[in-house]
Amino acid sequence: MPIASVNPATGETLRSFEPMEAADIERRIARARDAFEEHRTTDHATRSRLMERTAELLDHDRDRIARTMTLEMGKPVAAARAEAAKCAKAMRWYAAHAGDLLADQHPSDADTADSGADRVVVRHRPLGVVLAVMPWNFPLWQVIRFAAPALMAGNTGLLKHASNVPQTSLYLEDLFRRAGWPEGCFQSLLVGSGAVEGILRDTRVAAATLTGSEPAGRAVAAVAGDEVKKTVLELGGSDPYIVMPSADVARAAATAVVARAQNNGQSCIAAKRFLVHTDVHDEFCDRFTEGMRELAVGDPMAESTQVGPLALEQGRADLAALVDDAAERGARVLTGGRRPPALDRGWFYEPTVLAGVDPGMRIHREETFGPVATVYRVHGVGEAIALANDTPFGLSSNVWTREEAETERFARDIEAGGVFFNGMTASHPAYPFGGVKRSGYGRELAGQGIREFCNVTTLWYG
Ligand code: NAP
Repeated sequence: MPIASVNPATGETLRSFEPMEAADIERRIARARDAFEEHRTTDHATRSRLMERTAELLDHDRDRIARTMTLEMGKPVAAARAEAAKCAKAMRWYAAHAGDLLADQHPSDADTADSGADRVVVRHRPLGVVLAVMPWNFPLWQVIRFAAPALMAGNTGLLKHASNVPQTSLYLEDLFRRAGWPEGCFQSLLVGSGAVEGILRDTRVAAATLTGSEPAGRAVAAVAGDEVKKTVLELGGSDPYIVMPSADVARAAATAVVARAQNNGQSCIAAKRFLVHTDVHDEFCDRFTEGMRELAVGDPMAESTQVGPLALEQGRADLAALVDDAAERGARVLTGGRRPPALDRGWFYEPTVLAGVDPGMRIHREETFGPVATVYRVHGVGEAIALANDTPFGLSSNVWTREEAETERFARDIEAGGVFFNGMTASHPAYPFGGVKRSGYGRELAGQGIREFCNVTTLWYG
């Protein structure tokens, strides 16, 4: 993919960039490693001050960077501003909590008495230079979710952002520089995906984190495995959204629209498969379909727009192919299923609801990365859980029920990194985020996230 900002609302190329040359990449890796030698010795108070300053600058830049994101990948500009605000919040959270999250641990004397030690201390030391391979869908948030904890832990970061968001990538490097982080602590590499292997094999790079598709995750993990380097993978999802008879159906349907259509439908944790108990199926389906039909689709720069274009032309083609395959095999299109006739430029696709999906259709197993929902009728908790788990993915899940016994079963049996009851999945700095199965491994955010790229060191004092 060329490295370029292409406005998905118009198809117009706004700016193109030459990929960095080998010598430039080499300089940046060296700088990241040198910066690590210094940065790893700084104290939490110093890092916190820098992180607070970074958050302040981001708040100040919010409108400007929101417009850049919208121009590069098409999310509604109001959502882009909210994304920037969320990033500043995460930075402040880690600035406030990193010291405690990484504080030395002291196993009790009673536990260690037989080891012969006077005392034992467990210390979280940083790992080194971490390569972050990131996607375009939340072009600020995905990066900050990695960078805030990684830098607070004393690591340094090299960002290889998606090729269609180069200006957001450069903005991020500039943001950390302006905030006063020592040179080399956070750098962007404008390179294509073909350059990732060489960078990851470099002995000065200690670890990698990748957020993106399953094939990209597999490729990076294979190289990291070969080099015996730590990875965190945040990959695709096909989250179930279960509605049981005790649910507030009106609220469940209204929330479902947001859960499916947020970020133009291009969120890994978007609810994608709607599994609705037969007692409330028809009411839910009517309300949900109506809500999807009423979404304002159009220019993402307009404040009133709720759904903009898909970020990539190929993404729209892939999504349309899944819908067409299902329709040809007998699924019913309750709304949408085509590009909006009034929007002949850009990569728009109508919010779509499909019913009557069966396991023979591609859409049953593949991720829909756009505003397309599939609704299934289920007849009980067991069937809902079986269908929820009948996917290669296991990122998060949503369940609407007021029954305590049902709640416990869903909490026990859904194969995912999260189960959100009577609401929709959202990430938050204070709780861990990540998946199981083909959705990846490792966790971001919270204490789990900041410890992923630490060398957990046992200090034994005789
Ligand atoms: P993508 O095509 O996998 O790209 C993600 C990043 O990986 C980009 O920087 C891309 O670079 C790079 N890449 C692609 N193939 C690679 C390879 N073989 N080796 C090394 N790097 C490679 O994904 P996307 O289309 O940007 O994002 C959509 C996917 O990400 C969806 O599946 C979505 O569910 C998932 N996602 C997951 C999470 C999560 O937290 N679990 C969050 C957001 C998105 P180029 O751009 O240069 O190709």
